[in-house]
Amino acid sequence: MLERGEVANSWRHERWDSLRLLTPNWQSRLPSYPYKGADPDGFMTMAEVVERISEFAAVTSAPVRTRTAVTSVARMDGGYRVATDGGEIRCRSVVLASGAANIPRVPELRQAVPERIECVTAFDYRNPDRLPPGGVLVVGASATGVQLADEIRRSGRSVTLAVGEHVRLPRNYRGRDVLWWMESSGVWSQRYDEIDDLERARRLPSPQLVGTAEHATLDLNVLRAAGVELVGRLAAIRDGRALFSGGLPNLFALADLKMERLLDTFDDWARNNTPDVEVGPPERFEPTRVPVAPRLSLDLRSGEIRSIVWATGFRPDYRWLDVPVVNHKGELRHDGGVIVGAPGLYAIGLPVLRRRKSTFILGAEDDARDLVGHLARYLAGGVPTV
Ligand SMILES: Cc1cc2nc3c(=O)[nH]c(=O)nc-3n(C[C@H](O)[C@H](O)[C@H](O)COP(=O)(O)OP(=O)(O)OC[C@H]3O[C@@H](n4cnc5c(N)ncnc54)[C@H](O)[C@@H]3O)c2cc1C
Repeated sequence: MLERGEVANSWRHERWDSLRLLTPNWQSRLPSYPYKGADPDGFMTMAEVVERISEFAAVTSAPVRTRTAVTSVARMDGGYRVATDGGEIRCRSVVLASGAANIPRVPELRQAVPERIECVTAFDYRNPDRLPPGGVLVVGASATGVQLADEIRRSGRSVTLAVGEHVRLPRNYRGRDVLWWMESSGVWSQRYDEIDDLERARRLPSPQLVGTAEHATLDLNVLRAAGVELVGRLAAIRDGRALFSGGLPNLFALADLKMERLLDTFDDWARNNTPDVEVGPPERFEPTRVPVAPRLSLDLRSGEIRSIVWATGFRPDYRWLDVPVVNHKGELRHDGGVIVGAPGLYAIGLPVLRRRKSTFILGAEDDARDLVGHLARYLAGGVPTV
């Protein structure tokens, strides 16, 4: 196992100070390594995540070579040549577990931001004190965007949040954590080959969720009540003016509708299974309130906004991969983690790789079992099926 930094590197160096997992502790299980702490319903801090992953590495005696960056993976007869900054390795098979979130995804229009505005991404952001004084525009309202907008607003600044497509979820539903429902109802285990629009499922933004001691919901209604100004998707920056889409009512209605459909799925499941589990009565939530006449533009030269936080997602980085298996969008061509056209090459830890839960910590176990089975058959000389 080659790691360019330290064990749990991304959790150590690529996250903001206050971040806690949005998955409850009992769900942050690793293969054959359940959570056994005293707070199963709590949410881990980054220091706790690092400790847990480091413990797992020690318990499993994982043969990790830290501070070893892979600089190239190329085909050679019968396998692959892996170049690292610590020498070369030749092997029959390679598993790419380099993460789905190596680089912040920032739209091209960033180039048009006036110079005096400081731009930070979720990778650079640490806490509100590090931002220059003044108003903040947060772009993106998925898990990262809503959490940062909330934290920056609480620090006393004025915050404008540009909202695009998003996934709304309540933190609790019928007396249980919403992610308990995702797992128990089987939604999270839905396989990639059972999903109608897999490409879309793989692009779905992260849900509007936050892990707090209060188990609080953090949706757009909550943010608006806290004083965050909601505007539409950032569509362009022209002559120093940020222009926002006018489609907030549609966007909100769609997110509300999708949430209701998901809650219907949970209710259907509960109807057939609740003799065994205790849950409260079905609930429905207030629709997302549309602001009256949301702003369609904002003059970035007026001094009202001093910084922009790009919470527009992340993408993997395969610049070191010298096997032609990456499409024009920078995504690996794979069938459930088995890379197409490159026998012996595998990937793990990507969105909806084999199941809806693939990109979460708890998703590794089932995906790893499937892929290791495939890999073992491949190494044994058989013709493995996906
Ligand atoms: C902001 C944020 C919050 C998240 N919150 C949650 C959450 O609450 N719960 C949850 O279950 N999941 C969460 N996730 C998803 C989480 O990232 C994954 O569950 C988990 O980290 C995936 O682990 P991984 O090992 O696949 O990827 P990573 O943790 O990204 O690890 C990949 C490793 O590969 C190394 N690497 C990359 N390229 C090279 C190279 N060329 N050479 C050598 N080493 C390399 C990196 O240094 C890194 O350590 C979150 C993700 C983000 C970005």
